[in-house]
Amino acid sequence: MSENCIFCGIVAGTIPSTRVAENDRAIAFMDIAPATPGHLLVIPREHSTDLREAAPEDLTAATLLAQSLVSRVIDRLEDATGANLLSCIGADAWQTVFHTHLHVIPRYPNDPLVL
Ligand code: 5GP
Ligand code: ZN
Repeated sequence: MSENCIFCGIVAGTIPSTRVAENDRAIAFMDIAPATPGHLLVIPREHSTDLREAAPEDLTAATLLAQSLVSRVIDRLEDATGANLLSCIGADAWQTVFHTHLHVIPRYPNDPLVL
């Protein structure tokens, strides 16, 4: 756990979040400012700054959880036909929270999102 890390606070439950899935190494919750409806974040429970630092077991757990959520959003969200799976590494790559995370961004026909 890293002090002053928002996502460590979400793992600990001291910062509220809407969790949608979890296992012993990773959790998934709704993004507070969704890029499209249903935008999720998947994070290892263990703190690392970005995926370069994450332990292989944590990265595997987070990626497999993200894989299952990609299927879930496409199957269950009305009109979703695809998804983007994205991880930002470094401020110049739009990383704003420095705890490894994967975005699962549902996509809809002709939605206005530009990455
Ligand atoms: P980044 O820009 O680092 O790739 O993504 C960070 C993401 O975390 C952003 O999409 C942002 O909306 C989301 N986020 C930031 N603070 C919070 C929070 O307190 N709760 C939740 N659920 N998401 C957050
Ligand atoms: Zn953290």
